[in-house]
Amino acid sequence: MSARILVVDDVPANVKLLEARLSAEYFDVMTASNGTEALAISRRAECDIILLDVMMPDMDGFEVCRRLKTDPATHHIPVVMVTALDSPADRNRGLEAGADDFLTKPVSDVVLIARVRSLTRLKMMTDELRMRAITSLEIGMQAPERSAVADTGKGGRILLVDDRESSYERLATILAAEHTVDVEPNPTEALFHAAEGNYDLLIVSLDLNNFDGLRLCSQARSLERTRHVPILAIADPENSTRLLRGLEIGVNDYLLRPIDKTELLARARTQIRRRRYTDHLRDNVQNSIEMAITDALTGLHNRRYMESHLATLAEQASLRGKPLALMILDIDYFKSINDNYGHDAGDDVLREFAVRVRKSIRGIDLACRYGGEEFVIVMPETDLHVAGMVAERLRRSIAGEPFAIHKGTKRIEVTISIGLTTLERKGEAVADVLKRADTALYRAKHDGRNRVVSQAA
Ligand code: GH3
Ligand code: MG
Ligand code: MG
Repeated sequence: MSARILVVDDVPANVKLLEARLSAEYFDVMTASNGTEALAISRRAECDIILLDVMMPDMDGFEVCRRLKTDPATHHIPVVMVTALDSPADRNRGLEAGADDFLTKPVSDVVLIARVRSLTRLKMMTDELRMRAITSLEIGMQAPERSAVADTGKGGRILLVDDRESSYERLATILAAEHTVDVEPNPTEALFHAAEGNYDLLIVSLDLNNFDGLRLCSQARSLERTRHVPILAIADPENSTRLLRGLEIGVNDYLLRPIDKTELLARARTQIRRRRYTDHLRDNVQNSIEMAITDALTGLHNRRYMESHLATLAEQASLRGKPLALMILDIDYFKSINDNYGHDAGDDVLREFAVRVRKSIRGIDLACRYGGEEFVIVMPETDLHVAGMVAERLRRSIAGEPFAIHKGTKRIEVTISIGLTTLERKGEAVADVLKRADTALYRAKHDGRNRVVSQAA
């Protein structure tokens, strides 16, 4: 997995050094020698990760980072501050500016590559989601970037897995100032607990007694319910090599003991903010998929979805030698419902009609709104005789019970006509099947409406 890394440093020798190491690992490297240049490159979406020097003339790294993280166009790009300063105060300044991590000069090769790899994975996932979410923006959904930039990262739900009482008591107290914290001192229960709890962040100690904290992290990564929950690992300094292993298996961030209070809070906020952003993106993607295939008024599938899916159903039926039934339903004199009671009443009828349709069909049947007051139902593994009974039951469920309109203050009689047919032979074009059903519907209308007409193939 390759990525484009932007190295920002005012000292050419430092740039060359990082460039050489990253290129050796097949990363694409871009360089900038000051903050203004770095911001321009980032805004053009030309880099995946930014390694940012802190001490630069004009605009220092903190300021560059702050600007990147408050701009909706760049806030999602991971920023690693590369710094000679290593006091907790400096780290916290960077974290407050929104930095995702720190590397201390001189930069260790192993740590550099592990970090960059783990951030690359994260960036790729976010990009994929962003790309899909752009489609939902086009159909008018709210941009997640706005809320992401405004999110404080506070008020999260955290599960802390740590079996040392003195340790978890202190950590939980610190975190409770900004979040809701549950402590799980029993690592064998932790995975279950994490899967059940809908957490925004897991904090896992790697210094557990008789239990491998990394195994827990990797299990959390493979379990559907916890796959997207960020993990912050904590470890004693003598366990620091295991932290690198952790980054490889999907731990998002880590802290070494003794744990600095401000740094713990800042890192937790960063993870929680990112989690909310990706969740938001994921929801948008999900919604846009649903919107693309669903009719907004009735909640049934739309015509586009039916047309693409019908071909698949017909193919399956042909291959398996099973029958496939299709009916077109059309509300009788629907225009006069609109004319007499208003368009809203017409909409009420359409909605209630869809509810009754759903009640009358099986889960594997496909119901869709084909046009204004015209619907199509496709029934796999159903022959003409059985489909005829379903159609008749449907007809009765509409005609037998008046429809409520005007907020339930009035009830009106509604009837439907149905044209029914089946797939004729292997490989028959679905357009021909639809046409036959439509001819049957025409006859039902012609013969007086409120009836089912079957047209054998
Ligand atoms: P028939 O018995 O021959 O089917 O007569 P009909 O009046 O039902 O058929 P026609 O095709 O003449 O009229 C359908 C009407 O459905 C016209 C259109 O304004 C109305 N319509 C289409 N979509 C909607 C909608 O979403 N809401 C409402 N309220 N009316 C709609
Ligand atoms: Mg009609
Ligand atoms: Mg019509």
